[in-house]
Amino acid sequence: MNSKKTQLKGLTLHELEELFVDGGLEKYRAAQVFNWMYNHKVTSFHDMQNISKTLRAELDDKYTLLTLEKVREQISQENETRKLLFKTVDGHYIESVIIPDDGRLTLCVSTQVGCPLDCKFCATGVMGYKKNLTSGEIFDQYLLAQLSVTFPISNIVYMGMGEPLINYENTVRSLSIFSEELTTGISLKKITVSTSGIPHKIRELADTGLKCKLAFSLHSCFEDIRSSIMPINEKYSLKDNLKALQYFSQKTGTRITFEYVMLKGINDRKEDLEALKKLCKGISSKVNIIPFNSVAHTNPEGISAELQPTPLHAIHAFADRLRDANITVLLRDTRGNDIAAACGQLAITEQ
Ligand code: SF4
Repeated sequence: MNSKKTQLKGLTLHELEELFVDGGLEKYRAAQVFNWMYNHKVTSFHDMQNISKTLRAELDDKYTLLTLEKVREQISQENETRKLLFKTVDGHYIESVIIPDDGRLTLCVSTQVGCPLDCKFCATGVMGYKKNLTSGEIFDQYLLAQLSVTFPISNIVYMGMGEPLINYENTVRSLSIFSEELTTGISLKKITVSTSGIPHKIRELADTGLKCKLAFSLHSCFEDIRSSIMPINEKYSLKDNLKALQYFSQKTGTRITFEYVMLKGINDRKEDLEALKKLCKGISSKVNIIPFNSVAHTNPEGISAELQPTPLHAIHAFADRLRDANITVLLRDTRGNDIAAACGQLAITEQ
């Protein structure tokens, strides 16, 4: 047995073909293996029934398909939201969340173990950064999550732990697998990548031709306030990000989703409302209003410890005023709060 097996999960069809041809296999074998691992979701070469036993043994000797192991699944009593805890082969833990909503099943995937960006309202940020996930580890969250539910996952958001555009190469490779003609299940139109804002990477993503959607963590229309809750804004200003988002929207023909977590006294004032209305008028967009979920379970310090949610009635009023200005607004419920699976709550607090 070969002790250093090459990982196949996370390779695109083209990469798989190159690898197999270099290894002396026929090119068409790549499509067979691709179909088994990404569409039939098998995790062992021995289950690939249209491949001879001898070749299956040869593949098993050289290659591996194992990236993640599911170690726990929690189901919210409130609404059937499921939080899945996975362990990577190199011993890190990550979380994914499956959210049922109006007949749809949305999967929220992680792209990093922890996150280096330290957004003050986010539990993952408080946890710090450990590593980038591989494209296989990103894609496998979808494959394993689908095995946990009876209905097909209909949408995917790259909105779990981590900043996808910092782990750009692996994020794009995982999106490319979804975009392959051979891949069944979910099309890129149903996939949204969420970013805190890295302008040159937003442009680069637009230039790939991958037709996914983009969500931008806005949270304030004022540079100084945004910097105080999202330190990344000091490096990449809102102004530069808005130009990049405009480019993305025009190039891909998609609407940008502005994510807006409601923080009492910080971004829910009258001037915030007016600034948000103005900002939305300048770009093809919609607004996703998110009630703030406490990050108290991470024992936060500084501004994180002081953040308070905007009361629900004030959130509704804020959303209504945006609608009055003909802005499309989605008001997200707090899903899976009882299992810390709601937006901004993902953090590994045990093991
Ligand atoms: S909100 Fe996103 S980018 Fe910010 S710290 Fe959390 S995971 Fe990282």
